[in-house]
Amino acid sequence: MNASIITIGDELLIGQTIDTNSAFIAQEFNKLGIWVKRRVAVGDVAADIEAALDEESRQSQLVILTGGLGPTADDITKPLLNNYFGGKMVVDPNVALHIEYLFKKVYNRPSPIAERNRKQAEVPDVAKVLHNARGSAPGMWFEKNTGGKNVIFVSLPGVPYEMKGLLTEEVIPRLLKHFKFPFIVHRTAFTAGMGESMVAERLLDFEAALPRNISLAYLPSFGMVKLRLTGQGHKEQQLTDTINLLFGQMTALLEDIVVSKEDEPIEKVIGRLLTQQQKTVATAESCTGGNVAHWITRIPGSSDYFKGSIVAYSNHIKEQLLAVSPETLRLQGAVSSETVEAMVKGALQQLDTDYAVATSGIAGPGGGSALKPVGTIWIAAGNRDKIVTKLLQLRFDREQNIEVTTMQALLLLRRVMLGLEDNRL
Ligand code: AMP
Ligand code: MG
Repeated sequence: MNASIITIGDELLIGQTIDTNSAFIAQEFNKLGIWVKRRVAVGDVAADIEAALDEESRQSQLVILTGGLGPTADDITKPLLNNYFGGKMVVDPNVALHIEYLFKKVYNRPSPIAERNRKQAEVPDVAKVLHNARGSAPGMWFEKNTGGKNVIFVSLPGVPYEMKGLLTEEVIPRLLKHFKFPFIVHRTAFTAGMGESMVAERLLDFEAALPRNISLAYLPSFGMVKLRLTGQGHKEQQLTDTINLLFGQMTALLEDIVVSKEDEPIEKVIGRLLTQQQKTVATAESCTGGNVAHWITRIPGSSDYFKGSIVAYSNHIKEQLLAVSPETLRLQGAVSSETVEAMVKGALQQLDTDYAVATSGIAGPGGGSALKPVGTIWIAAGNRDKIVTKLLQLRFDREQNIEVTTMQALLLLRRVMLGLEDNRL
């Protein structure tokens, strides 16, 4: 089944609000096996919204709209839909009660309720009302026979948190009742150390031999490539077996670069390894400013294995808190293999952990030199027996350099923990 998403609002067109609603809806639909054929953004302009409704109902059997349902004058979607579907506006008693409740109990506003809020209880009598537990603007479900097919139109508020609630609690359950969906099964592998095109080269024959109902997606990000196999079918068990078999074949072809056979972030992989090995870790961070520690602590329960971090941004702190020697800093510089190695030693000592990770580099945009240009970053990971260092030469902006460094530092820690000799990440 095809769907179209129409997002409404001038703020989307001028770039003031980033359209996260369509991404969320598309992800949810993808899980169900609904193909989002088109995404369209239009302003709060009646003619444009109507044109989009006409066009998208030709393209799809399901049209989802978000935005333009607020109580202010610029929000015109509701009366427009009423006209479009030939209804008349009536007060919905349930919505009226809900608005009353929100204003009195939740927002704590004195009555009487402003006329424009009261108006939010009016809905086209041709719509099925979808209860918005999180706000005052209800969702609406319309059906129309057009172009020889029945098309469903669903209008949702623009506020992402309200939209999400309505989509998952009201819209999807109704869609599941309305249509028969195929089963969709995904399996994702996380690889690192090889670029997307090289990975594709290795999977050439595998990909060519995939059955028609199975597809392979490459999801590259900095320093990693995720590979997602997706299957569609009507027999769930058979589909799962096929996907598992193919996933096994695919990961066997990529054995040396597979970091995880789950769709999970690197910090989760690290957390599991530390838990299995019953070891602890600490970080000593210069250019990442604590970001490695931040990633590690995004995982619930990380207090079992993460002890702390020393954010040693200045040379003084590197000397004082991590015992990096002044000679090393003077002769090799703060951005050097020797410094990050000393930072790991310092963190192991000071924070008394089994493993430590360190970073030091020039994240940019300033601070580079001919010898050490912006993006020159050293990372290290190790324990009391062995410390491995690695030079990164990145070319992104500051924020991305920090993210990539964090990812690479954790990948390096993983290799050290697994005793993988090859220094490829
Ligand atoms: P509206 O329903 O048009 O009154 O929108 C309410 C709020 O939701 C506004 O603050 C918008 O910036 C936000 N919003 C509307 N559409 C989107 C969208 N597609 N993605 C993210 N936020 C949105
Ligand atoms: Mg709006």
